[in-house]
Amino acid sequence: MTATVEIVEVAPRDGFQPIGPWIPTETKIATVRRLAAAGLGRIEIGSFVSAAAIPQLRDAAALVEAAAAIPGLRPQVLVPTAKRAKEAVAAGARFLVYVLSASEAHNQSNVRRSVAASADDYARMLDALPADIEVRINLATALDCPFDGRMPVQPVLDLISRLAALRQDVEICLCDTTGRATPDHVAQLASAAAACCPDVAAWAYHAHDTYGLGLASTYAAYQAGIRIFDAAAGGLGGCPFAPGATGNVATEDVVWMFERMGVATGVDLDALLPIAADVSLLPGASAGGRARMALTSRSAGLVSKGCGAAATVQA
Ligand code: ZN
Repeated sequence: MTATVEIVEVAPRDGFQPIGPWIPTETKIATVRRLAAAGLGRIEIGSFVSAAAIPQLRDAAALVEAAAAIPGLRPQVLVPTAKRAKEAVAAGARFLVYVLSASEAHNQSNVRRSVAASADDYARMLDALPADIEVRINLATALDCPFDGRMPVQPVLDLISRLAALRQDVEICLCDTTGRATPDHVAQLASAAAACCPDVAAWAYHAHDTYGLGLASTYAAYQAGIRIFDAAAGGLGGCPFAPGATGNVATEDVVWMFERMGVATGVDLDALLPIAADVSLLPGASAGGRARMALTSRSAGLVSKGCGAAATVQA
């Protein structure tokens, strides 16, 4: 049996949110369509948040409507409160990602409430949600906080246990919001979380590549049993509330790594590369990743030298 992973494309949310110049809604929708056509069956298409805080994502409702018409796509949207969850469901969202932080300082900065208040709010959201709405928890700063530094494992496990007890069919994503987590820490937390909450439906991992550890941490999470990974085309990203955090791990890097390992991603890398190149050129975007440049310069070299593709593949 072939090993597989699922990649959740987050460029339209995490990747676009720090970009200042307005990205037209039509460009966002076209990007989501192209990503879905490249085999990314699950895409985080936006978030229902304060338009004043994150003006770039104020067209989330239009994205929800457009994404619902894309065959085979399972779109998800981020919500920071039960109130925003209600808005998202009213707009037609069927899959909600409730975000809260493991660290007090980051949660206060991000959603202006304590972690305990967010956990209570999450419980209220679950009570109010129609039963057929899918839910994921994004546990931000699960490993490292821009204000408090490295997060000790046990308090994070205690919070996960509390949240997991509320509803078992919820996916939990461990997020390295700052990109400062080291692979050994990721492995430790992922293993301990799986051991402490064996009934959680699925685990996911969200890497940022701030220190070039995005792939190493993704692999560490894979080794610890996680099979769902967030990534952003072009390595776009950066949390506006996590000072210093840069882009998400690049989808094309993650696809390249797993496919080279013989792990199927379902993503067509050749179709993904031009999309990653296009989003990296959006005005105001700060792109990252390695595979795009390596593979693109290789094909550019081919053209300039007039070589046949087969000859270079052999070289
Ligand atoms: Zn992120």
